[in-house]
Amino acid sequence: MSDLNQVHYNKKVNKSMEAVILNAPGDLQVKEVTTPIPGPSEVLVHVKCTTICGTDIEIIKGSHLPRWPRKFPAILGHEWSGEIVGLGPMTEASNFKLGDHVAGTSHAGCGACRSCLTGRYNLCLNYGKDSTGHRQYGHVSQGSYAEYVVNNIRSLHRMPEEFPFEFGSAVDPVGCGLWTVKRASVNPGDTVVVLGSGPIGVFAYECAKALGAGRIIVVGGGKRLDILSEQGAEVVNYREGGVPEKIDDLTRGEKAQVVLETAGTTESFKWTVDCAGKGARIAITGIPDNIPDLAWKRVVLEEMDITGVRANPNCGDEVISLIKNKRIQVKPYITHSFPLKDYQKAHDVFVAREDGALLVNLYPGT
Ligand SMILES: [Zn+2]
Ligand SMILES: [Zn+2]
Repeated sequence: MSDLNQVHYNKKVNKSMEAVILNAPGDLQVKEVTTPIPGPSEVLVHVKCTTICGTDIEIIKGSHLPRWPRKFPAILGHEWSGEIVGLGPMTEASNFKLGDHVAGTSHAGCGACRSCLTGRYNLCLNYGKDSTGHRQYGHVSQGSYAEYVVNNIRSLHRMPEEFPFEFGSAVDPVGCGLWTVKRASVNPGDTVVVLGSGPIGVFAYECAKALGAGRIIVVGGGKRLDILSEQGAEVVNYREGGVPEKIDDLTRGEKAQVVLETAGTTESFKWTVDCAGKGARIAITGIPDNIPDLAWKRVVLEEMDITGVRANPNCGDEVISLIKNKRIQVKPYITHSFPLKDYQKAHDVFVAREDGALLVNLYPGT
């Protein structure tokens, strides 16, 4: 039994650390802040690599206020990897050791509610209630745009020693791709349409391929489509218009057995049903500002299943195995790297989709 006040460190940890602070919507600043101290069931991790997520961009803009962040200043970031440098009390259950390499995910459920007890901690009934132990890092709790981050042992996945930190920080977005594909029950040989060519779209593509899809058509735009083509995807440029008609042409009118929506625009939301064939399964990850009407008559008469997708519960270890054994690719999608202190530059590159920006990685302390 560990001492409740005791934190074990394996190296000297500075009292202050470099972090990217969001002071107000659109107001980012690189600044020294106090290094956090892990509490019960928590560890302190030295962040080695952290990746920009499309959700971060929306949070920075203020699109998710007042839910995310709950207060300013805030430290965002939830796609990351690093090395454990401090073990808080009651962390024995994880068997984590000082020096272990870990990949983070954003959700840590309370562990006690009905959702958590049935493995659906992404739907924790105590969402946002800190006192119950619930955390969502980089959303309502401190995230990884910093030299150090405290995480609950429930939101960390052990990485093999030889696993590059760049792959570790992709575990969360790959997990979102995997959960999307699982929610839509991709079967061997299925024709899958992925709407969106951003990070979740490319990993939905990779995971659909790993799960045996026969044919995968990705609808997206810009240089991202070139990267996907090189990886073997069939691509449709949405900017040329007529997306559902193109899917019809490509499938001789059969449409897709599975449609995965990852773009979150009004058009792509509508195209889910428009690209789906009889008996299709549809999984939706994005929520547009203006939600369009869908072809509900077809949904009913053609027995379509529509499922929502939130984050990626219990996918981290599976993702690490898929990456380690080369069932899915990460490297081709890493397009940019910056020191953390150049966050604003990295942010602008991601937003402008410069050179097809997909995984834009940041390195604290460099
Ligand atoms: Zn994310
Ligand atoms: Zn819970």
